[in-house]
Amino acid sequence: MKVKQNLRIRIDADAMERIWHWTDLAAGEFSCLGTVTDDVIVGDVRLFDQICTAASTELDQEALAKFLVTHQQPERVRAWIHSHGRLGVFWSQQDEVCIDGLANDTCLISLVVNKKREWKARVDIWQPFRLTLDDLPLEIRLPDQNLREECEKAFNAHVVEMQPLLLPDWRGGKQSPLGQPPPRRESYRGGWPDFDDDMADWR
Ligand SMILES: [Zn+2]
Repeated sequence: MKVKQNLRIRIDADAMERIWHWTDLAAGEFSCLGTVTDDVIVGDVRLFDQICTAASTELDQEALAKFLVTHQQPERVRAWIHSHGRLGVFWSQQDEVCIDGLANDTCLISLVVNKKREWKARVDIWQPFRLTLDDLPLEIRLPDQNLREECEKAFNAHVVEMQPLLLPDWRGGKQSPLGQPPPRRESYRGGWPDFDDDMADWR
């Protein structure tokens, strides 16, 4: 199967910030769930009721069901994020069980993080066949603050974009090494220094 080479996971900046705050607050592990858009953007991360230890966070099926029932878009809840506290980021046996427990007909994005701000991201699908894409790049999506118009005004007011520099066709008939069409020779007559020695290899 040909896997899309440039697949990356994006996450909203505020979702990532929440994850880091909860990671800092938790003595050990914790889990949360987030939504995933069609463009594979993780957002709206929320905690659900859980009992955590230093080294484990089990997904309580009852708490999970309660979370999904009260969620406005349960079909969008396709991201599972958890922290390993002070431990490294890897997929434990228990993580694999949790991921399989969240099997669905689209995909599941999993993110494991730790207090050192390390992370690991993967995508799992179960249909039409089981597939895991691990170690995917994660990109933080900054909020769009509607600055386009303001930036456009400032850009137009301050920036003049010139055409690439045209080198003079000082020998006549020959193009510059940059492949630009030579400007009219007449324009430069008298105005340019004598290039004869420095540019002899152009002849
Ligand atoms: Zn884990």
